[in-house]
Amino acid sequence: MGGLFSGTKRTEILQSLMDHPVDILIIGGGITGAGIALDAVSRGFSVGLVEMQDFAAGTSSRSTKLIHGGLRYLQQYEIALVKEIGREREIVYELGPHVTSPETMLLPIYQDGSMGRLAVSLGLKLYDYLAGVRKAERHKMLSAAETLQLLPMLSKDKLLGAGRYVEYRTDDARLTIEVLKEAVYRGAKAVNYAKVTAFIYDDHNSIQAVQVQDVLSKQVYLLEAGTYINATGPWLDTVRSLDQPVQGKCLQLSKGIHIVLDRSALPLAHAVYFDAPDQRMIFAIPRDQKIYLGTTDTAASGIDIDPRVTEAEQTYLLAAVMRIFPKIKLCKSDIESCYAGFRPLIGEVGKGTAGLSRHDEIWLAPSGLMSIAGGKLTGYRKMAERIVDQLVHASKRTDLAHSRCQTKRLPISGGLFGGSKQFETYVSAQIKNGIALGLTGSEAEMLARLFGSNVEKVYRYKGAAEHLEQSKMSIAENMMLLYCLEEEMVISPVDFLRRRTGRLLFDAPWVLRVKEDIFKTMSAHYAWSTELENWFRLQLYKEIEIVTEALSAD
Ligand code: FAD
Repeated sequence: MGGLFSGTKRTEILQSLMDHPVDILIIGGGITGAGIALDAVSRGFSVGLVEMQDFAAGTSSRSTKLIHGGLRYLQQYEIALVKEIGREREIVYELGPHVTSPETMLLPIYQDGSMGRLAVSLGLKLYDYLAGVRKAERHKMLSAAETLQLLPMLSKDKLLGAGRYVEYRTDDARLTIEVLKEAVYRGAKAVNYAKVTAFIYDDHNSIQAVQVQDVLSKQVYLLEAGTYINATGPWLDTVRSLDQPVQGKCLQLSKGIHIVLDRSALPLAHAVYFDAPDQRMIFAIPRDQKIYLGTTDTAASGIDIDPRVTEAEQTYLLAAVMRIFPKIKLCKSDIESCYAGFRPLIGEVGKGTAGLSRHDEIWLAPSGLMSIAGGKLTGYRKMAERIVDQLVHASKRTDLAHSRCQTKRLPISGGLFGGSKQFETYVSAQIKNGIALGLTGSEAEMLARLFGSNVEKVYRYKGAAEHLEQSKMSIAENMMLLYCLEEEMVISPVDFLRRRTGRLLFDAPWVLRVKEDIFKTMSAHYAWSTELENWFRLQLYKEIEIVTEALSAD
């Protein structure tokens, strides 16, 4: 098995990118880079993408995991932004219903809260209109009694009611990987653990090549392309400064945090969007047996590749939850995992990060380097469309002169079952197929929901999974691991545990139980040197420590 997204093909892909210059080389494998790769390759450009960590290891696995129009940006009069990303909600959902699903949100209204009943009602009405919300999902204003029926533990004191509306919950890292997989399927060449370290210039000071270092083998490659796109999110200015000193507009980073609790500690049936005491807004979102909560928006002075949630931040979130749900008593040991990330916002003098716009921006340097940042996960498709439109305009390739964005109707990888209306029927059929293969119904369902239509490929790994000598992983879990190694470029255990499956955040005990089995399989699969295996071990232990810090600290 194993196609162009197999972990064993990295060296081959880097060599091929060196031997055959592409039209567009993208630096950065977060959602922005992945979106551009898919847009460009589907219009006919040849595309390469290099990512210095794992795909989505930056901000694109550290978000609130919502596909949403940004209701609160209405307070900042960001009408055009809310309209654009609001309308993307449904499109992103339909392109991959296995990664994104509707989520009912409740916005409680209190007498002394930041928004009154009228403001919420008008805001949600405007949101319905701007985002083109489908009829069944339009907002409803609830009385205090109706609100308490849905959220019985909510503080009754000065409760006026709530706004009920629908957003979409996604898995940010899986969304990124599915978009990128589709790009790769269509001919893009993408490599993780490949870092751009320098630009090489011609006699006219235009970029002639980028120097890329394979982080694993330390081998250096010179890659040439027609255009170079810097899509490195929070690292945008670091990469821009490899080209020339950063002047004018630059990034202003803001740190956001999330904690994960077991649903038994905070048994919410619906997602809630509520005021913290300092009027910042916090989401509490159910995901299977867990609830995750965040985020704050704190100005950050610099970027840390492994950001942590501090004790003060954990305390802040727990206090905010207990204030609005007074019957709930939480302490630090209830936090099962946590994560932090940096928003790459476009800086404007005199504004705090919460007030900064979420719009995206494109810079063109005299050397030809194009840089793109800002925006949101939700708007990845439109960001990609804008920059690729510019490339089409500037392209000397006459065959592409009139090419238009294709991605509005292009399902992402795993989304080939005919849209959201068909998803449940598809899952049921795949459960039957899985059972016929010898899996349990719940194992087959887990695989079908995680991989969408790619579950049919995952099933092909059954035979190989049965031959693994392991004690703690089930056949289905091993099928999942083998598929991710061969078809999702999983290179280290953390890639698999944190970003391909989300288990490190949402099922840490399972990770602790099976991690040695995973090392055994991966070590045999890749024939790791002792040095490399030790490196991956350190990487995993560090990640476990960061994510489950709350557990180990108690
Ligand atoms: P990243 O995902 O950071 O990708 C950039 C990549 O570039 C990184 O993987 C990095 O390793 C790589 N890179 C850097 N330097 C190099 C180099 N030299 N060579 C090669 N590769 C390099 N948006 C929403 O729509 N919904 C939400 O609910 C939401 N919640 C959020 C919550 C928080 C706390 C934060 C911080 C953001 C949130 N966002 C949300 C915004 C969204 O997550 C980001 O806009 C988006 O993920 C940015 O993606 P990106 O690809 O631009 O950056």
